[in-house]
Amino acid sequence: MKKNPGPAKPKCGLCGKGKNLTKTPCCDQWICDDEHKYVVFSYAKNSCSRNHRRYTLCGFHHNEGHSGKWQDCKACREGFEPEMVVYYGTNEYNFEKLQNPPEYEPSHCSICSGIIKFGTDGYTMKGDQLWCTKCKDPFSESLE
Ligand SMILES: [Zn+2]
Ligand SMILES: [Zn+2]
Ligand SMILES: [Zn+2]
Ligand SMILES: [Zn+2]
Repeated sequence: MKKNPGPAKPKCGLCGKGKNLTKTPCCDQWICDDEHKYVVFSYAKNSCSRNHRRYTLCGFHHNEGHSGKWQDCKACREGFEPEMVVYYGTNEYNFEKLQNPPEYEPSHCSICSGIIKFGTDGYTMKGDQLWCTKCKDPFSESLE
């Protein structure tokens, strides 16, 4: 456990802001208490606490009530495609990134065979067909 020598002001561990903070229920880190800013169905990623809760293994592990540390959790690893384990374990919404992410074969678009990153790229999946956003737009309306 780390101890701060001086009266350091708490800051959000993700974006560095020092206002309206709360502690994450999963890992006891300071984070923006900004979940209310999220507009339902906007898919915006403007809320630190929501991002950490929804897009990290840490948040998932806690929500699912797994035991032990998420970094060592078998259930978390088996619950997702290896690619998503890597994304959820190493994206910028983590305070602590996965040290030994699993290897995976990248997925390709069925039409143009471009690589699709499930974590960050949009895609459409139907049966064993997979399309990138250039070949098939998954959203019928723009997200402006
Ligand atoms: Zn923040
Ligand atoms: Zn956490
Ligand atoms: Zn877990
Ligand atoms: Zn494509």
